[in-house]
Formats: sequence, C-alpha cells, structure tokens
Amino acid sequence: MGAGTGLNIERSMDTVSRRRRSKIMAAVKSRGNVSTEGAVRRIFLSNGITGWRRHLNSIPGKPDFAFRSARVAVFVDGCFWHGCSICRRNITPSANKTYWRAKIKKNQARDRRINAELQKSRWRVVRIWEHDIAKAPAKVARRVRNLLAENP
Ligand SMILES: [Zn+2]
Repeated sequence: MGAGTGLNIERSMDTVSRRRRSKIMAAVKSRGNVSTEGAVRRIFLSNGITGWRRHLNSIPGKPDFAFRSARVAVFVDGCFWHGCSICRRNITPSANKTYWRAKIKKNQARDRRINAELQKSRWRVVRIWEHDIAKAPAKVARRVRNLLAENP
C-alpha cells in the first residue's frame, strides 16, 4: 500500500458526515470485540487451553490472546472490520460503501503487517474469524491446541 492510497482513504472519510459515521460505527461496534473475545475465552476454558495473556503491549499488534512460552499469538477478527469474504455481503452497510471499504482495506493491510512482524520474531499467528466462534468452536480450539502442542 503506497502513500497515495492513504490519501485516498482520508479523502473518502471526509465525504461521510461525522454524525452519520459515528451512528454507523455505534451500530457495528455493538457486535464488536468484547463479547467475541469473551466467547473465545470460554472456548479455551472448556477445552482445557490455559496460559494466555491478554492484550500485551510488548507484543506486535497487541494480540487478543498470547501464549508467550509457546509463542502463539491469537487474534479474534470481527467479520465486518477485517473484511471476511464469507460474511461480507450480509453485513456491509449499503450506505457509504466507499468509506467502509477503504476502512476495511486499511485494517486488512494492518493485519498483514502485524502477521509479518510477528512471524519475523518467530511467533505463530492464529486469526479466528468471528463467524467461527459460534459456528465452529471445536475448530477454533483445535487450531490453537495444535500449535501449542507443536511448541518448538
Ligand atoms: Zn465471517
């Protein structure tokens, strides 16, 4: 992503009125991180997965869950904010598509940057889609447990 793209994002944000934006934000945020992270925490607990720390500033990207000795970083990605291709059609607001698309693209670029940064320092990264928490909790637990088991 070049600097030009960044400018375009700023510009498209300006086209959405501030009040309207915060209204949409509030609507989307209500299904945001706090409850999904809580649900992941319950999946871990019910599967005997322990030893994580939350939101450690010392780790790139401040993972939602970090297993430090195993060097496994877990992020819970909201389907809307991180541009899940499976759920996108259902949750993209019809108004201000350009604004939301730019914002989601920016989030995705940051996700890729953080993944690369973590991998460079030998962390293994798990990204859990919000939709998997309810639909496939066993898969969520398995992915994390497998990585913890192959702890180098
Ligand atoms: Zn999804």
